[in-house]
Amino acid sequence: MKYAKLKNGKIEILSCEKPKLLSKGAIIKVLGCGLCGSDLVKIKHSNKDNEDNIILGHEVVGIIEEINSDTSDFKVGDKVALGHHYPCFNCEFCKNKSYSMCKTFKKSNIFPAGFAEYIRVDDNHLKYTVYKMDDSLKDDEKAFLEPLSCCIRAVERAGFEYKKDNSKYCALVVGLGSIGLLMLKALRAFGVSGFGYDISLQRQNFAKEQGFDFTEDKKYDVVFLTAGHSKAIDTALKRVIDGGKIVVFSSVEDDLKGFSNNEIYYRELSIIASYSPSPSDIKISAELLNSHKVNVENLSKYYELDNLASAVDDSFNNKVFKAYIKI
Ligand SMILES: [Zn+2]
Ligand SMILES: [Zn+2]
Repeated sequence: MKYAKLKNGKIEILSCEKPKLLSKGAIIKVLGCGLCGSDLVKIKHSNKDNEDNIILGHEVVGIIEEINSDTSDFKVGDKVALGHHYPCFNCEFCKNKSYSMCKTFKKSNIFPAGFAEYIRVDDNHLKYTVYKMDDSLKDDEKAFLEPLSCCIRAVERAGFEYKKDNSKYCALVVGLGSIGLLMLKALRAFGVSGFGYDISLQRQNFAKEQGFDFTEDKKYDVVFLTAGHSKAIDTALKRVIDGGKIVVFSSVEDDLKGFSNNEIYYRELSIIASYSPSPSDIKISAELLNSHKVNVENLSKYYELDNLASAVDDSFNNKVFKAYIKI
């Protein structure tokens, strides 16, 4: 079968043996996989020493082809989407709800990679991170299960509870790439008024078309940083209310320059980070996508697996909003 791998800094489509079912778990025939910003960061920072450990692709949509599971939730032929990490629920990190810091979480993954014709998942994936997706969704829409769950985690980390009345709160999302727009949609699903800002007028306008505005003289209860630029923190500091929260949701190249100790201190700002979703976030994400409460229609551009390198180039050069690799 075909799969994508980094070799000497370049994406190559190689061939390997189809994964075999171990004692418990499933083999999934991959229909497609979204290209995530974190894939781009991994590719950018790859070198000869680390590229063998880089797993490309995790926003998988597929059909269960073989299964041997303790759960009775799935059968052969089910169309699913999935998250790639699951926590142990037992360690100190898990007890503290820092699931993405759990050692099991960091170690668990799909095999061999999302950009592959087949993957193997463990039984714990089936229990905690795999969801049946509704036929009314296109495959690229199903692939938003994992990225939307990342945003849901961030919205919850900001203190908003699902199905509670959050309508008195306003949030600003700085950076309106696909994940920024998804964050706005997650905020809306939680009942928070979401506003978006981007230095690119094109992205600003696209968000406006989706019903998300930007108001120049407004201050926000929470500011979410989804732009990988240290200047975004200046925008966040300018826009957040005194005593408000800033949620860091992306890495930046030039780390320390953005740290404004005194302003954070005197204005009693809370700086929160959100990295990767827990099983409960994936569950909410599945519910919101399957019920069409979060609409992700027409956001993705389709590429073939053989053209993954062009999808990556186009994403780096902002020529595509969200790339979905059909497999
Ligand atoms: Zn992702
Ligand atoms: Zn744990």
